[in-house]
Amino acid sequence: MAKNDDPNLLKKIIAHAKEYGFVFPSSEIYDGLSATYDYGQYGVELKNNIRSYWWKAMVQMNENIVGLDASIFMHPTTWKASGHVDAFNDPLIDNKDSKKRYRADVLIEDHIAKIEAKINKEVDKAAKKFGNDFDEKQFKETNPRVLDNVKKIDDINSRFKRDLEEEDFDDLKLLIEELGIADPISGSKNWTEVRQFNLMFSTELGSLADGASKIYLRPETAQGIFVNYLNVQKTGRMKLPFGIAQTGKAFRNEIIARQFIFRMREFEQMEMQFFVKPGTEMEWYEHWKAKRLAWHKALGLGEDSYRYHDHLNLAHYANAACDIEFDFPMGFKELEGIHSRTDFDLKAHEEYSGKKLQFFDNEEEKSYVPYVVETSIGLDRMFLAVLTSAFQEETLEDGSSRTVLKIPPVLAPIKAAVLPLLNKDGLPEKAHEILDELKMSVNVQYDGKDAIGRRYRRQDTIGTPYCITVDHQTLEDNTVTIRERDSMEQRRVSVKDVVNEIEEAVSIKALLRSVN
Ligand code: ATP
Repeated sequence: MAKNDDPNLLKKIIAHAKEYGFVFPSSEIYDGLSATYDYGQYGVELKNNIRSYWWKAMVQMNENIVGLDASIFMHPTTWKASGHVDAFNDPLIDNKDSKKRYRADVLIEDHIAKIEAKINKEVDKAAKKFGNDFDEKQFKETNPRVLDNVKKIDDINSRFKRDLEEEDFDDLKLLIEELGIADPISGSKNWTEVRQFNLMFSTELGSLADGASKIYLRPETAQGIFVNYLNVQKTGRMKLPFGIAQTGKAFRNEIIARQFIFRMREFEQMEMQFFVKPGTEMEWYEHWKAKRLAWHKALGLGEDSYRYHDHLNLAHYANAACDIEFDFPMGFKELEGIHSRTDFDLKAHEEYSGKKLQFFDNEEEKSYVPYVVETSIGLDRMFLAVLTSAFQEETLEDGSSRTVLKIPPVLAPIKAAVLPLLNKDGLPEKAHEILDELKMSVNVQYDGKDAIGRRYRRQDTIGTPYCITVDHQTLEDNTVTIRERDSMEQRRVSVKDVVNEIEEAVSIKALLRSVN
């Protein structure tokens, strides 16, 4: 069974993440708060390492990209200009019997996915029947049942698209009813009207006494970059093309937030807005599409774990857009978006603020509003992608089993554990000496409890790539054993080489070189 075919994989990852200090439900002692999570002692290290890989690959490796850390609260007009006040909505629908709330668009998309599954089943059946002679393309173009289902999908899609564009929610409800879509939990088809729901969280700035004003928690980090475009361009003397990168929290009042850290109400984004000369945006869009996929693939989470999904229905501000999807336990889903946003945002901010947000092009001797290509990735989704590929349940040669997180060493929370074989004879002191040297450059852990085999297993569960064991021979010849997580092989190395060897093995240098 391919790993991602295991129907319990997500459940196992959630349980593992909690048991071993990666991700806890938020405020768990009060039974948690839906769709919010806290990162534990190992989770925070993994998250920091992913962020650092992104930051270094974007900012440190590109002369023309600089960083920014904008505040979460922004002037409320920002969100008017960006279109979020008027248009950052999802259509919601309630089931009157189960009282459960759903996104109307997701109900329809799930229905379409079921028809797609029927098509795939037909194809698989025919492939088995015809063996090597099977021509999938021809079969799809001629089989009446397949053609009938393709037509069904096309009809639903075109009506669905029109309903969303024209905000015809009465017809959207009618569509749900006509398709016979039932509440996936209760099976009831007793639906309320469809309503628009704005995803932004609002709060009040100042006390009511001084006339508090309504402000929003940012639903994306991008706008902090747009409103600082001119500040950075002028003070950094930046010339087009150039980019501004930022990581930080974003907040969305998602209607349904399930699937662990994949969809949360508070999450972290890593976004880069690349400002370019109008007319060159498609070139840069293709450039960043390829660069970002290479960034993912360099981690070795699986060559086949990614695919592009080009958007056919473009947002009003975009002239091209695609997602990089990852093969999560729930199937291929969006991990990162690459969007060619034209000059929509800067122009809108010019209009609402009355300030010019332009670039003076010396060659052309004129000013214009730059176009923007954006790369936007969810840090939490990236975290889930790493855990998905890392989580392995292995049966060993001796029949025993182990659960191991094969996290790329450069991202692993703890790079090495130093283990004295026994808690006596000067072994703990020697182990501490090695630990003190290593901790200057990498995150290390000391573990002196339990039998050595159990300690190795414990490090496997948190993804530590190397265990360094100090034994009696160490005191005689100044050598230790290094045990590797993935192969479980052990070899002896001299103490004076051990620091260099570990530093080299977990260094980000080679990774950055491969994506440069
Ligand atoms: P989706 O279609 O899954 O709701 P989106 O298209 O709205 O996502 P964008 O607005 O393009 O997402 O945001 C960029 C990135 O931020 C996404 O690719 C994703 O990785 C991340 N992201 C968006 N919403 C969430 C969320 N609720 N929880 C965690 N990460 C998120």
